[in-house]
Amino acid sequence: MDDSLERYSRQVRFPGMSEEGQRRLMRSRVTLCGCGALGTVLANALVRAGVGHLRLVDRDFIETSNLQRQILFDEKDVADNLPKAEAAARKLRLINSTVTVEPVVTDIDRTNILALVDGADLILDGTDNFEVRYLINDAAVQLGKPWVYGGCVGSHGQTPCLRCVFEAAPAPGETGTCETAGVLGPIVNIIASFQATEALKLLAGRADQINRELLYFDVWENVQRRIKVAPLLGKVDCPCCQRRRFEWLEGQHGSQTTSLCGRNAVQVSHRTPARLDFEQMSRELGQLGTVSFNRFLLRFQTEGYEFTVFPDGRAIIKGTADEDKARTLYAKYVGH
Ligand SMILES: [Zn+2]
Repeated sequence: MDDSLERYSRQVRFPGMSEEGQRRLMRSRVTLCGCGALGTVLANALVRAGVGHLRLVDRDFIETSNLQRQILFDEKDVADNLPKAEAAARKLRLINSTVTVEPVVTDIDRTNILALVDGADLILDGTDNFEVRYLINDAAVQLGKPWVYGGCVGSHGQTPCLRCVFEAAPAPGETGTCETAGVLGPIVNIIASFQATEALKLLAGRADQINRELLYFDVWENVQRRIKVAPLLGKVDCPCCQRRRFEWLEGQHGSQTTSLCGRNAVQVSHRTPARLDFEQMSRELGQLGTVSFNRFLLRFQTEGYEFTVFPDGRAIIKGTADEDKARTLYAKYVGH
């Protein structure tokens, strides 16, 4: 074993990986979308395992409430006010200086996703954000690249398509967010570790080993489920992989933001209207700030921002003129 492989000796000795798999892994390029909870676990696993090049994309800065589960960050990163991608890259280079880590601080949207995944052998979803997930799915199907999302995997040739399984993204407010529903650190590690293992199989040239089922875990309630999705793939009349209509890439779905001039406010709206349940939202948000609502709108104040949310999912966020910040706040409190 030559010197460059020595640090990976335990992994190379693992028969599924072997020297050939390791060499492939070291030549491979990955784009990781999102560097929060799932993203930091994924990045840590891949860089330690010796991926060749890792492009890390994230729009956020680190906050103290991230430290409970985002394993690459510490209190100094919060004090230094570093973007997540940059702080993660610094730490990852200390862990393995032979890997090229490329941080990109940006909001992933339909205008930049194709450039961000350009040259990647694999795309990893670390965002836990439905909009980005469907965008990645469109890009991956269009370009014929494999991608792995939380607990579920596809690779081209097997029809790598999220829309075959879940045709539409849940509406904003329909699923809880980490802010409203909370999240335990260990489940993040479990899900991301499954994702990282699938990534290693694909990059080491062992696509024959990939998991074709949807895995579901609830570590608190002690529930584990395997859902067979392989029979669905390619059998449904899927707009994305069958009809090759890339609706998220083309902007027919998803959100848009508009800075409201002179008002220190940003409007976030959705192309596909939602039907928000204000009663439920006010119960969840009531723990995090001041809420009031009537039939027409819900008002919520927290962190010095004021949200005015309409039943179709549109929101005006007062207290910032920065569209990226508004998107982050919307994802945090209203939903993805
Ligand atoms: Zn499909």
